[in-house]
Amino acid sequence: MSDLLEIEHLRTYFQTEGGVVKAVDDVSLHVRQGETVCIVGESGSGKSITALSVMGLIEGPAGKVAGGKISFQGENLLNFNKSQLRAIRGKEIAMIFQEPMSSLNPVLTIGQQLMEPLIEHQKLSRKQAKERTIALIDKVGISRAEQIFGSYPHELSGGMLQRIMIAIAISCGPKLLIADEPTTALDVTIQAQILDLLRLFKDEAQMSILLITHDLGVVAEMADYVVVMYVGKVVEEGEVVELFQNPQHPYTRGLLKSKPVINQRLEELYSIPGQVPNPLELRESCYFHDRCEHCMDICRIKSPPLKEVAKGQKAACWLYEEAMNRV
Ligand code: SF4
Ligand code: MG
Repeated sequence: MSDLLEIEHLRTYFQTEGGVVKAVDDVSLHVRQGETVCIVGESGSGKSITALSVMGLIEGPAGKVAGGKISFQGENLLNFNKSQLRAIRGKEIAMIFQEPMSSLNPVLTIGQQLMEPLIEHQKLSRKQAKERTIALIDKVGISRAEQIFGSYPHELSGGMLQRIMIAIAISCGPKLLIADEPTTALDVTIQAQILDLLRLFKDEAQMSILLITHDLGVVAEMADYVVVMYVGKVVEEGEVVELFQNPQHPYTRGLLKSKPVINQRLEELYSIPGQVPNPLELRESCYFHDRCEHCMDICRIKSPPLKEVAKGQKAACWLYEEAMNRV
């Protein structure tokens, strides 16, 4: 498998009234063809901003990609102009979000919205696009496709809308699908169906998926490779089985402890004690030190580098450095 997407030392910063927020701070990750890479972390970890950076969707004067490289099929997307990016979005790289409603136009029918990329990117005639659209609606598991074709978004359930978003996303046969919390707003049973659907299309088309989630159940089900982010940085990464069986970073261990159990009441969930630091008050240190039971002196004054700590597994934590120095 070759690398389809290579993110190298990405930095995406936001200028705020209080100062610069380094939402993504020196993040590198690779997605190979046919592979599902999950970025997992709490809200504010920079996982969505990483995805938006890839799509060229960091806009406005406040936010900007301040450094690094985002190579897709060997070309640096950061050098692309708006129209080059638009040509790639939807065709080669597609994206689905948590709230399908926010990505759909409420005054256009489902059919119109599905036909649009087919006409624009695939250069299909209206008639061909309509036939293909009905086939796509059917393919994502919605019955009565002809009737749905003429429906408006508000007439469909959340689960159906997410299926429609997937239909739009796969309509042009993208090589990479970026899915940002695609099942977070859905019921558990619908979540499982949506994940099944994503897996099906991934296998069918050898598509790669960059999946962003805070849900370790989703990671366990979907990921080949996992990247754990905390406050804009990668703190651990590795193959899913190794990472779950043998998490190395104290933060990953905490996340795995807090894995929700179906039907367990929300208040009873374990959550890592303490709070994510204020992004405007960060200084050189391990950003997890206030919440870490293993915190040492060095953790408060120096950022740990991301290093291989077990076969195929990397972590950014001074514990491993200390252990290595002791031998
Ligand atoms: Fe804990 Fe120190 Fe490792 Fe940070 S570097 S996770 S504070 S032991
Ligand atoms: Mg997010």
